[in-house]
Amino acid sequence: MAGILFIISAPSGSGKSTLVNALRSQLGRLDFSVSWTTRQPRGSEQNGREYYFTTREEFERMIAAGEFLEHAEVFGNYYGTAQRSLDEATAAGHDLILDIDVQGAMQVMSKLPEAVTIFVMPPNPKVLKTRLRNRSRAEGEVNEDVLNRRLDAAKREIENYRRYRYILVNDVLERAVAQLEAVVAVERMRREGTPLDHRTKREFEIAESCRVVN
Ligand code: 5GP
Repeated sequence: MAGILFIISAPSGSGKSTLVNALRSQLGRLDFSVSWTTRQPRGSEQNGREYYFTTREEFERMIAAGEFLEHAEVFGNYYGTAQRSLDEATAAGHDLILDIDVQGAMQVMSKLPEAVTIFVMPPNPKVLKTRLRNRSRAEGEVNEDVLNRRLDAAKREIENYRRYRYILVNDVLERAVAQLEAVVAVERMRREGTPLDHRTKREFEIAESCRVVN
C-alpha cells in the first residue's frame, strides 16, 4: 500500500526546522524528502542532506524534463521536490514528509488531494520578527530591507493557512512536537482503520484540536 504524504509548510521564522528534526528523531517509517535548490548552502549544510544544491541551468533542465512533483521560486531561488522522492517512498511503503512553501503545497494539493497538509504558525508577530532578525544576524549584518521583505512574505504565507488540514502554533516546542506526532499517528490509524479506544483517545483529541475548521 502507498504511504501517506505529509506536507508541512511554515513561514520562515516559525521554528519549523527544530520541530521537523524532533519529529524525525522520534518516528519510524517516515522518509524526509530532500529538496533541490539553487540557493547557496548555509553554515554546516551538506549536499544531499539538507538539500541537493544545484545550478539554475540544471534546475531549469529538470523542470523541462518534468522531473519535479512541484517547484517554486522563493526569495529569488528555485526550490523543488523531485517526483523520484515520492516514487521511492511509495515503493518502500513509507510515509513521506515534504517541507515546502505554500506555493509548492498548493501544487501538490491539486495533484494529490489526499495529501495531509500541516501549517506551522509562529507564536505571534513579535516573536516572528525576533526570529527573522536573529536569522539575518546569523547570516551576517542585519539588512532592514531584507528583514522587512521576509516579514511580508511570512505574512502572505500565513494568510493561506485555511487551505491546510491542520494548524500548529509553535510557541512551546514540546507541545508542538506532541501535536505533530499526534497528527501523524492519527492519520496512520485512520488509514489502517484502527478503532478509537482508551489508548488512542488522547492522540485523537490532540490531533482534533489542531484541525482547521473552515
Ligand atoms: P530555506 O532556504 O530557509 O531552507 O527555505 C526557504 C523556504 O523554501 C522554506 O519555506 C521552505 O519550506 C521552502 N522549501 C524548501 N524546499 C522546498 C521545495 O522543495 N519546494 C518548495 N516549494 N519550497 C521549498
